[in-house]
Amino acid sequence: MKKIWILLLVLIIGGAGFVYFSPVFEKNPPDIQIENNGFTNLKKPLKVILKDDSGIRYYRVTMIAGGNVSELATLTDPSMGKEVVLNIKLPKTNAKEIKIKITAADNSKWHFFAGNEAEKSIILKVDTTAPLTEIINNSYAIGNGGSAAVVVRVSDENLKDKYVMVNGKYRFNLTPFVKDGYYVALIAWPVEEKTFDAELVAEDMAGNVVKEHIPYYWRKYRYTKSKIKISDRFVNSVAKRVLGKLNLTIPNDPVEIFKKINETVRAANEKEIYDLTNRIYEDKINSFSIARFNPLPGSAVRAYFGEQRTYYYKGEQISRAIHKGIDLAKIKRAKIYSSNYGKVIAAKYIGIYGNTLIVYHKLGLYTLYGHTSVFKVKVGDSVRRGQVIARTGASGAVFGDHLHFGVYVQGYAVNPIEWMDPKWIKLNITNIINGAKRIINK
Ligand SMILES: [Zn+2]
Repeated sequence: MKKIWILLLVLIIGGAGFVYFSPVFEKNPPDIQIENNGFTNLKKPLKVILKDDSGIRYYRVTMIAGGNVSELATLTDPSMGKEVVLNIKLPKTNAKEIKIKITAADNSKWHFFAGNEAEKSIILKVDTTAPLTEIINNSYAIGNGGSAAVVVRVSDENLKDKYVMVNGKYRFNLTPFVKDGYYVALIAWPVEEKTFDAELVAEDMAGNVVKEHIPYYWRKYRYTKSKIKISDRFVNSVAKRVLGKLNLTIPNDPVEIFKKINETVRAANEKEIYDLTNRIYEDKINSFSIARFNPLPGSAVRAYFGEQRTYYYKGEQISRAIHKGIDLAKIKRAKIYSSNYGKVIAAKYIGIYGNTLIVYHKLGLYTLYGHTSVFKVKVGDSVRRGQVIARTGASGAVFGDHLHFGVYVQGYAVNPIEWMDPKWIKLNITNIINGAKRIINK
């Protein structure tokens, strides 16, 4: 008799233990995730993810808008699985705010076979109004490899992002200008690109996006093509020296040495320069003035920006590159002048560019001085117009003493010739920005 009681007790405890520990009776309610940032434009479906180890058995999605409750989706089905993804279409409403309530239950036999239930609610601000955009003023034309200016107005109650997109892949940030809702940018036509298209893009928190085409006429610059013979002397002295300075292994083959310098090292150097020159440091600007750049007065141009260089070794084509600056030569160790106010943001050895100075001039505009022999300023220094900032030299992957002068707009190399021409600057940049200021202040 006693044995039966013990057996029964064991069965009861065992059964309770089974119920308690069995996955069939798991006690975790479904996990409900609602992808949202607190806003909706009622167009983009609301993504909901339901997860449960015993599988989702039931869900219900309701919307409460201005006192009206409507059911958006419901389903009871034990075979839905462990993860259910719902894309809920939201109905039209005039309410400023909606509440979405989601309930879900799992396949657990817990709660006397009713399963575990979870509930989650969120409140979404309804914003169906797209941002307002307006092009206030822009340069009449832009050249391939050149720069231009644009002033725009963007307004939206819940503005998330605004920028100028060139060719669908180059982003140029806008800087607040003069009054709330107005923005200015310098933009570029990257020299590698055959065509140019600029769009003002504005996006709000609810996902409403506006794209407005910015009209620019194309100014077609013809860039020279040059054939450069690579000598063993260049490989053995210059190329090896740069690789050594960068602590890189030196290949055995002269062609491989040159390619490593001209392709691998060049790409790394251009990436480094991009990272150093793509920022805009101002939170807001009220005006923009800039004088023509003339870093090496009385010098001769040795090579222009945009030159398409093809390199030959013993008659064989081995490599290519585009020259991203202008080469100016004068006497050895000539004084390099800053033509404008600026801040020194880099003074360092950058591979093929040698000892390189980079100066920031506001609004995402930078100038670069390569192959220098000595720096006369250091990082963080402010430089003024007319100040000597360095001396020319032959550091980096070059033979003779000269200055490689580069101009960058938000990270992209642009044709320095434009920025060395006071008429071009006035017509294409300062008149556009100052003209917009007059329109804004009217
Ligand atoms: Zn150069």
